[in-house]
Amino acid sequence: MVNAFIGLGSNLNDPRSQVETALEELAQLPQSKLTTFSALYETEPMGPADSPDLVQPGYINAVAVLMTELEPEKLLDQLQSIENRHHRVRGEIQWGPRTLDLDLLLYGDETINTECLTVPHPGITERNFVLIPMTEISPDLKLPDGRAIADLPASHDQHGVKRCPPK
Ligand code: ATP
Ligand code: MG
Ligand code: MG
Repeated sequence: MVNAFIGLGSNLNDPRSQVETALEELAQLPQSKLTTFSALYETEPMGPADSPDLVQPGYINAVAVLMTELEPEKLLDQLQSIENRHHRVRGEIQWGPRTLDLDLLLYGDETINTECLTVPHPGITERNFVLIPMTEISPDLKLPDGRAIADLPASHDQHGVKRCPPK
């Protein structure tokens, strides 16, 4: 069994319920148990929103921990089929709007570099919308290279990240 950290994000078609439904779907995955998940966070879009003709709505983000026996590639397949069920359309714009994004942030303390999978997810260390929910559920977490997430400046940068009150 390995603890896999999964980043969830959505900014289309009722993002809150996209993320809540995705958490339920993660809980149903085979050979896996959803052990923890963060609050939902309202976050400002990264990337193309900077350009005035490509305004995209704000995001809902969260992080979940799945205790799993699935190998990393199998887990990625499962995450992509959940994305597809949420009618994720892969457009041409990198970091453009999407109904659901599920990223494999960490897979235990493994480092993976294959054609379809890079773990730790390369965005983790700079993305406060990932690090803040990670810190909420696992404040003492260390990356495979030994760095504590608490020592990464983006963990403490609240800019554009607002915790949603519970329903
Ligand atoms: P980012 O990865 O910067 O957050 P994104 O989530 O919008 O951007 P996607 O379109 O969801 O990017 O994914 C593109 C490809 O990234 C996927 O087809 C997948 O094979 C690959 N990929 C590599 N590493 C990972 C990972 N750790 N988690 C999810 N996908 C990954
Ligand atoms: Mg992503
Ligand atoms: Mg992705």
